[in-house]
Amino acid sequence: MPASRMDLADAGSPELLAKLILEAEPDLPIPVPIEELCQRLDIMAIQDLDTDGFEGGLITDTDRSEGIILVKKGREERRRFTIGHELGHFLMPLHVPDQTGRFLCSRADMLRLKSKEGDRRQRMEAEANRFSSLILMPPTRLRQSMRSLREPNLQHIPALARDYRVSKEAMARAYVQQHEEIIAILVTKGGRLLRSYKSIKFPYLVCSPGQAVPARSLLHRGPHNLGIASCFAECVADVWTDVKWGERAPTIHEQVYAQRDGFALVLLHVDGVDEEEEDEDRQIEESWRVGFPMRSRRR
Ligand SMILES: [Zn+2]
Repeated sequence: MPASRMDLADAGSPELLAKLILEAEPDLPIPVPIEELCQRLDIMAIQDLDTDGFEGGLITDTDRSEGIILVKKGREERRRFTIGHELGHFLMPLHVPDQTGRFLCSRADMLRLKSKEGDRRQRMEAEANRFSSLILMPPTRLRQSMRSLREPNLQHIPALARDYRVSKEAMARAYVQQHEEIIAILVTKGGRLLRSYKSIKFPYLVCSPGQAVPARSLLHRGPHNLGIASCFAECVADVWTDVKWGERAPTIHEQVYAQRDGFALVLLHVDGVDEEEEDEDRQIEESWRVGFPMRSRRR
């Protein structure tokens, strides 16, 4: 039975909302037909957005009887994510725009995963992204796709991104969240870290966004072939993580996937990390899995 607005009215979190929709639509094909789904959920039209500096928008009334999604022209994968994000704003009753009846969302909003405590706007943007990710890459389906792929490998990312028709970065983020191994995928450009996505148990990363990727990283030991994932290389753990004196250092394997325009993804795969080690991101990361239980992790 198709999802109906009435059944979704009380869903206060993006996870519950996505879960209810996916349960009501068990035969949703992959790639998820996001525009059709919008139509079934009272989005009357999806139109081009020409406002400079914004990726997407939503026009709606205060009681949310219907909505119009606005999306910037461009690559299909990016448009699909933006449409999912705006659908999330539309379906979450607590999402209230700055300007009555009109949400406008920037590129930075589309990348937001965390919010500062008390910042309502940032929280809404992060929730809309979580919703978009869950609806375009339904966790149970993605885990099925990943099961046959076994060991983590960056070569999986472009193939899965094509299947689910999402960007490589959106897929990398979901891949890290759903993978049973302890991994991180870093998005770099010109040898600098832009963003990082880590498993819950991944140790503290010493490189912050904006900083140069450590000189001893495999990234700097190229040349790397564009669009082909490199072989794995073991690296000294303290290149990437904060190994305290007296602690057992984890073993880290690195892999690089070079892209156009100086972009590259770096995969870090950890073995032998301390089970007790947990960071402050744990709660946020766990919230992605509400209603989408994982099989137990291999020890
Ligand atoms: Zn937004």
